Amino acid sequence: GFRMGIVGLPNVGKSTLFNALTKTAAAQAANFPFCTIEPNVGDVAVPDVRLDKLAGIAGSAQIIPTRMTFVDIAGLVKGASKGEGLGNQFLANIRETDAIAHVLRCFEDEDVTHVDGRVDPVSDAETIETELIIADMESLEKRLQNIVRKVRGGDKEAVQQERLMKQAMEMLEQGKPARLVEVDDEDRKAWNMLQLLSTKPVLYVCNVDEGEAATGNHLSEKVAEMAAAQGNTHVVISAKIEEEISQLEDEEAEMFLGELGLEEAGLDRLIKAGYELLQLETYFTVGPKEARAWTIKQGTLAPQAAGVIHGDFERGFIRAETIAYDDYVACNGESGAKEAGKMRAEGKGYLVKDGDVMHFLFNT
Ligand code: GDP
Repeated sequence: GFRMGIVGLPNVGKSTLFNALTKTAAAQAANFPFCTIEPNVGDVAVPDVRLDKLAGIAGSAQIIPTRMTFVDIAGLVKGASKGEGLGNQFLANIRETDAIAHVLRCFEDEDVTHVDGRVDPVSDAETIETELIIADMESLEKRLQNIVRKVRGGDKEAVQQERLMKQAMEMLEQGKPARLVEVDDEDRKAWNMLQLLSTKPVLYVCNVDEGEAATGNHLSEKVAEMAAAQGNTHVVISAKIEEEISQLEDEEAEMFLGELGLEEAGLDRLIKAGYELLQLETYFTVGPKEARAWTIKQGTLAPQAAGVIHGDFERGFIRAETIAYDDYVACNGESGAKEAGKMRAEGKGYLVKDGDVMHFLFNT
């Protein structure tokens, strides 16, 4: 599955947000219990109205959303890269994530201490990014030393790695994250293997006060500008509200959202933004027993998409029967789509599209 690490300075609202994420009714959906692997890891359902629609048409007995994993990486502080606090452990945790949700304090509250004594989300963002940059530089320095002998020996892979490491180093030495390095397609794989922290895509989460959840405030606006300039994304939420909403039943929650002028729970927006940031998409399997959503990376071919369900589906893949979501709905289900000629037989080279309803045929 895909993992999103929640980071941020102390007292910005990370735990509040994480609790809200993992305590929602959706996270504890009856047929797929919320599972805590470790206290700071939570599996969260990805909201998707299309899934309910498909289940309604097919009369599916169960609805099983796809899921995303959130990891609460607490305690990242200034100096973490030098081993301050529990520095190295946090950095190792970040390495294992696919993207970073960076919570920024955008609320004023004299009762909640800020580590630097002032509320400034843009400067907080820089503090954390600097830690990631320093950590990357230190790990690259070591690796560059170790690779010298292999490079001298003429190892082609080592030569490529060294070149990429030096490119990364050049960027980092300017105080800039390694994600700004332009990487060619043929270098992409080796580049990803460097596993640099500052290459992870970032989603800034502006944590605003209850009254400002619908509008944002001057601080979240500054974050929005910064995110746009960096090519990152941001969402505005109030972690406190989200925590309250997570305790409510669906109907109550909707009323509460309405009162606050919000169309959608912030957590839903957060999860969707994470999905987009990670360039993920969803396909569906739909039948009378269950309607289920599956997550794939954009650009995944049919056999690998099938492999998300089970390795055997990928190994024995013969073909896929596919109906686009809109066709499935317009034709009121599978048999209607079949009659209308909207069910396609697709082979190994088929690029699965977001919303496809799939049926896999495979050899066992
Ligand atoms: P963490 O250290 O980043 O995990 O922060 P916590 O989630 O523990 O929050 C730190 C403190 O800030 C707690 O007392 C929260 O109740 C408070 N807090 C979190 N979000 C908000 C908010 O939107 N507004 C206000 N006023 N307080 C908040």
